[in-house]
Amino acid sequence: MPAGLLETALSQAYNAIVLTDADLGAGGCKILYCNPAFCRMTGYTAAELMGQTPRILQGPLTDPAVLQRLRACLASGQPFEGRAINYRKDGSSYHVEWITSPIFNDLGQITHYISIQQDITQLLQAQKMQALMGLALDAAPSSVFITDAQQRVMYANRAFAALSGYAQADILGKKPGQLLHSGVHDADFYQSLQSSLERGQTFKAAFTNRRKDGSLYHCEQSVAALHDAAGQTTHYVSVATDVGHFVAREQALQNLACRDPLTSLLNRRAGEEALQRCHAAAQVSGQAYAVIMADIDRFKRVNDLHGHAAGDRIIAAVAQQLSQSVRSTDAVVRWGGEEFLIALPGLGLPAALELAERIRLAVADCHDAEVGRVTLSLGVAAGPAGGTEIDTVKRADQALYAAKQQGRNRVVADCAAPDGRPGNISGPASPT
Ligand code: GH3
Ligand code: MG
Ligand code: MG
Repeated sequence: MPAGLLETALSQAYNAIVLTDADLGAGGCKILYCNPAFCRMTGYTAAELMGQTPRILQGPLTDPAVLQRLRACLASGQPFEGRAINYRKDGSSYHVEWITSPIFNDLGQITHYISIQQDITQLLQAQKMQALMGLALDAAPSSVFITDAQQRVMYANRAFAALSGYAQADILGKKPGQLLHSGVHDADFYQSLQSSLERGQTFKAAFTNRRKDGSLYHCEQSVAALHDAAGQTTHYVSVATDVGHFVAREQALQNLACRDPLTSLLNRRAGEEALQRCHAAAQVSGQAYAVIMADIDRFKRVNDLHGHAAGDRIIAAVAQQLSQSVRSTDAVVRWGGEEFLIALPGLGLPAALELAERIRLAVADCHDAEVGRVTLSLGVAAGPAGGTEIDTVKRADQALYAAKQQGRNRVVADCAAPDGRPGNISGPASPT
């Protein structure tokens, strides 16, 4: 080794280095050498430190237990590793981490100690700040998770666990896009999320996500990309607020606006909209659709004989029977007092007539303890047939009128329909 290299290396070392004798007596070890980093850390000059004991760096917050362990270690010839609070020349404190090793002579006696030290004040502050951030994020009411650039979760807070049902251990390393996928959003939604993030913009939207238990939840969610100094995406941060109560309220209001309170069927206004959608879709697809108009027979008598409340009960029971008889894609509407409209997308006249007949029989089969049996007359028409949905309803209405004329409790097809059979299609042998 070139002469003087060791000294140069010690004086330029990043760590603070101090060499003392091995006098563990009352006065303490004496400093024989310290490098510039040690002077910078303590605020003393080398001249001020020479011959002093490192104990001059200790103060009120220096942990006596650490010092006791240090002395025990050194006395037994063991190296010591520890942390403590020390004080600079100006009285200010700093956190120091150090390793002190005993130096032995040829006889195996400890003659010196060498100590390599580092000021860890900033490191501890950063750790403290990190712990504080974790506590703050856990106390926040918004759900937060952070992923790496490959969109694998590295952190999720307590609110996320509460909202999604996934504890942090469940989701760490997993891709939230797959885990929370609800199937509610279309490809365009994910495309605009992706392109926003690629442009470096935060993506904000109403998300519907799936909980661990399979149920769905609604949140206002933002996803932002974090970048390093070179502009590379390093992480994604997602912050979400639960808006389930707003969505539930909106749905309840929508229901209130669209549903008839007695029967829970679509009301007239919502029914007209459903019919318009059905007609428009048929025009685009070229597929047929059908409309059934149904009216309870001789209903005035029910009211007259049993009262309005019994009449209401019958209307609700018939409505339930209609709902049970159709597909989820069909719209059942309380069109008027005891008059119902059913819009049947994709159904031609023959299939609609069959359905109307099934409904007629099902209603006729029902029995109310007080009122007994009621029957329905039904008129069926198919669209689009060149006209508007209003024309289709008119034709179904005319067919219903014909059913009433022909004795009630029967199904009649629209006479104008090219594939419909005019007149009485089905019904009881004798008029009711
Ligand atoms: P038709 O066989 O010709 O249909 O005879 P109908 O007696 O049923 O005659 P119509 O359909 O014209 O009469 C409907 C009656 O239904 C008139 C009205 O008093 C009654 N009604 C309408 N809405 C309600 C309701 O919400 N509750 C009750 N209880 N009755 C209603
Ligand atoms: Mg009636
Ligand atoms: Mg009526």
